[in-house]
Amino acid sequence: MIGAEARQALVRALGERVRFEVPLGRFTSLRVGGPADALASPASREELARAFEVAGEFGLPVTVLGGGFNTLVLDGGLPGLVLRMNRLRSVEIRQPALVAEAGVSHARAVRSAADAGLAGLEFGVGIPGTVGGWVVMNAGIGEREIRDVLTAAEILRPGARATEWIPAAGLGLGYRAARGLPEGAVVVAARFGLEPGDRERIRRTIRELLDRRAQTQPTRQPSCGSVFKNPPGDFAGRLIEAVGLKGERCGRAEISRLHANFIVTGPGARAAEVLTLIERARERVHAETGVLLEPEVRIVGRPG
Ligand SMILES: Cc1cc2nc3c(=O)[nH]c(=O)nc-3n(C[C@H](O)[C@H](O)[C@H](O)COP(=O)(O)OP(=O)(O)OC[C@H]3O[C@@H](n4cnc5c(N)ncnc54)[C@H](O)[C@@H]3O)c2cc1C
Repeated sequence: MIGAEARQALVRALGERVRFEVPLGRFTSLRVGGPADALASPASREELARAFEVAGEFGLPVTVLGGGFNTLVLDGGLPGLVLRMNRLRSVEIRQPALVAEAGVSHARAVRSAADAGLAGLEFGVGIPGTVGGWVVMNAGIGEREIRDVLTAAEILRPGARATEWIPAAGLGLGYRAARGLPEGAVVVAARFGLEPGDRERIRRTIRELLDRRAQTQPTRQPSCGSVFKNPPGDFAGRLIEAVGLKGERCGRAEISRLHANFIVTGPGARAAEVLTLIERARERVHAETGVLLEPEVRIVGRPG
């Protein structure tokens, strides 16, 4: 719960772009999770800075939510202020680079590059989310990841009044992580260095990547993609399948029968059910193989 004074300050800073006690299930791809005390969608960098200022003044924790495609919000919801970046969504082509604000969807970023005849971002077509989430997760497939194309990111540090651009090398991008991103900073925009390419060829690659994904992953059911990171030299999905947990259920959550590193949910599922399956898979794989799987999904909020 946020006190009356803090609420008023948030409303003064953000107007109708802040709401209170908002269920977060519809903002995450797993479709589960409790409410945000406050949920705001700043429409400019200045508003974003003001939101941080109010949060700092009243000691509200801040959580950033991109597309919510890699986030499990627990049933008790998120305390403090949740910032969505969906109103920061401009895309600019500065040949041969693409500069996109954090709230731009993966689909739009990939399509914009393809329309401009720029190659290099095709691999992102099946990685749902926003540009901000891509950067923070250093999202990728196989050998190709955001690190390969990102040249710089615009960030806002908590408490700062203005944003700054930092080179990609300063972000410490590694396997599904950006360890060099300053504590609590928000990614506001990203610049991708691409190469001129043949539009038809780029589109063909995109179609092929989408087709391959539809055959190997449960793309039509709510999920968060890979639940665990792959351990060195192995695959989390292979290990979970090997210990017999493919198809394992807890309430309305299930370890996918198509890909064992995915957990899918049905209507009415609870975050606690997803969490139970995560813990079960982790414990069983550890007990039977000695490998301790590390979650890729970001688990946030209070238990219900
Ligand atoms: C069907 C499916 C398939 C997937 N396949 C892949 C895949 O092949 N490869 C892969 O890498 N991932 C995959 N994922 C996971 C997901 O697509 C990526 O992690 C993506 O980068 C998430 O982006 P998002 O905006 O939804 O991030 P969110 O889930 O909203 O956030 C993820 C993390 O980033 C932080 N964050 C988000 N935006 C910002 C910002 N602007 N500033 C600061 N912090 C921010 C959040 O606080 C959180 O910690 C898949 C997911 C699904 C559902």
